[in-house]
Amino acid sequence: TDLIEIKGVTHAYKTPNGPLPVLDNLTLSVPEGEFAAVVGPSGCGKSTLTRLVAGLMKPDTGEVWLHGERVKSPRKTVGMAFQNPVMLEWRTILQNVILPLEIVAPSMSQPDRKARAMELLQLVGLDGFQDKRPSELSGGMRQRASLCRAIVHKPDVLIMDEPFGALDAFTREDLWQTMHALRAKEPFTAVLITHDLRESVYLGDQVIVLSGRPATTQFVLDVDYPGG
Ligand code: ADP
Ligand code: ADP
Repeated sequence: TDLIEIKGVTHAYKTPNGPLPVLDNLTLSVPEGEFAAVVGPSGCGKSTLTRLVAGLMKPDTGEVWLHGERVKSPRKTVGMAFQNPVMLEWRTILQNVILPLEIVAPSMSQPDRKARAMELLQLVGLDGFQDKRPSELSGGMRQRASLCRAIVHKPDVLIMDEPFGALDAFTREDLWQTMHALRAKEPFTAVLITHDLRESVYLGDQVIVLSGRPATTQFVLDVDYPGG
């Protein structure tokens, strides 16, 4: 079954100069547990697409479905990760990762929350760093921690908008491997926005190429990467 379904979505922003068409009759579907990588030139509507999936915006026409339900309002069940993760400096790494559980699972005991967060920190190689402050970690480590935070509460879908864009090439490839290791132990569905074609093929189970103005799905590649 498809976890994310986007059916014939068309959207234009209202601007002082009139409507700016961004997406034109966009259709795509992501099966549960799969990674969809979305690539396309800057300004083609990739961030708009993520806002639609997260329910932060409504399309002019068409439908967005998540888990068999029409998306009409912001969803707690969507995790987000960005290029520059915002971490709370007055909290430790562990306390930052636990944060979504405090919001979404108020009845969960503190030891259970810690155990869940530590499980993920171990999977991304950050055990031993849980008591550090965010500024004491490298950019790559902070991005690992932010991935843990984005999935700690088991959201239906993780949306990543250029998550590794600010990292150097070596760190970025480390993170790709971490992502595979994480997925092997902790299955989740994700939409990955990226400019990096190699990244899209390495991490995506399908690669959705957007182009045109307004943008539409140009083609979809099914990827069967030997390492993934
Ligand atoms: P991408 O993420 O692919 O760079 P975006 O979805 O951010 O593309 O933007 C697509 C187009 O829509 C761009 O031309 C951008 O300037 C415009 N745009 C994005 N957000 C808004 C907004 N809130 N109001 C008006 N125009 C917007
Ligand atoms: P990104 O590529 O990460 O989406 P953008 O520069 O496209 O970053 O957008 C940053 C913010 O500015 C977004 O919240 C977007 O909605 C808004 N924005 C982008 N383009 C426009 C625009 N032409 N008019 C109004 N708001 C815009």
